[in-house]
Amino acid sequence: MADLPDQKIINGLLLDYYDAQGRELPWRKNCDPYRVWVSEVMLQQTRVDTVVPYFNRWIEKFPQLSDLAHASEESVLNVWQGLGYYSRAHNLLKAIRIVAKDMNGLIPRDPIELRELPGIGEYTANAIASIAYDHPVVAIDANLRRVLSRLFDLPDPSPAELKCRATSLLDANRPGDWNQALMDLGATICIPKNPICEKCPVENHCKSADRGTQNERSMPKLKQPVRSSIQAVVIAVNSKDEFLLRKRPPRGLLAGLWEFPGSELVGNSTTLTIHKNIANGLGFDLTRDQTELISLDSVVHKFSHLTVTYRPVLVIGVNQGTHCDSPDYEFRWVEGDLIKNLPLPVGQQKLFKLSRKALVTRTL
Ligand code: SF4
Repeated sequence: MADLPDQKIINGLLLDYYDAQGRELPWRKNCDPYRVWVSEVMLQQTRVDTVVPYFNRWIEKFPQLSDLAHASEESVLNVWQGLGYYSRAHNLLKAIRIVAKDMNGLIPRDPIELRELPGIGEYTANAIASIAYDHPVVAIDANLRRVLSRLFDLPDPSPAELKCRATSLLDANRPGDWNQALMDLGATICIPKNPICEKCPVENHCKSADRGTQNERSMPKLKQPVRSSIQAVVIAVNSKDEFLLRKRPPRGLLAGLWEFPGSELVGNSTTLTIHKNIANGLGFDLTRDQTELISLDSVVHKFSHLTVTYRPVLVIGVNQGTHCDSPDYEFRWVEGDLIKNLPLPVGQQKLFKLSRKALVTRTL
């Protein structure tokens, strides 16, 4: 077995593999920096097969950087809804507007300049610069970390050591393809558990394969514990079949998205008490004769760090003039058929479907 770094041979094998077997992905149809940027932001902490339909819808709606720069936050969140980690969409929009306004619409080629834009860290900057502009930098994501740890058989490499090793191996003529070859290798062959070494183009140059240490190198870190929360939710419908929604504050979890008014159950509080409190805060009384209440089934939604159980009540016949001023939220009565135009997180979409079903069943 040749000693590493046998840069020329290894890179020849990696690039041949990429040319012949690289994954066909919609953002690889061309190296337009805007498309590369959008794909890299969507791919942060999200699987490729989840991202593909979102990317296609995004490009259909915002084909060029200028289309996105002029889009409203609401329409951007609407296309992003369901993809999670919404701060990515907020930052992408902010950064694109900066490029459109202050940089003549030209996305910087230099990774240092890219990193000055909101939401762009070292990995994303290097991925954009190398893939879109052939800038000779390594883009080390989880896949590259694992492949390189195995290739060099490094038990617990620091980020600096990994970067140094990767940079020494990088193919400066095709840095974007080199990064993507390693990403693909890590995603399909050099997988976390039991890598398929017999299919690997660089098996004969891999120290870990030679020593049989593959499964000891760069295993995924243990997941953070997941917190649980129970939320009481009031889904109010007025006589015009409009639903009362509120827009979340501009910062924090699900920033800027729309939801039904709700509140977390804490201490000894009961769901009924919280439902009543929410209704009072919105300016109506749950026990009034004119309103009809339907208890809906609970809805469970899992975020990466949090599992939320929503306990909804549907309140029919609420006075549409209900007063609901709040410094934190913007409230709006929205016709049922128009709710799809607002960005709603997945858990709230489930609640909406449930309430519509209950309304239909009630009229049968
Ligand atoms: S030979 Fe095996 S462990 Fe080494 S890089 Fe290839 S797939 Fe990974």
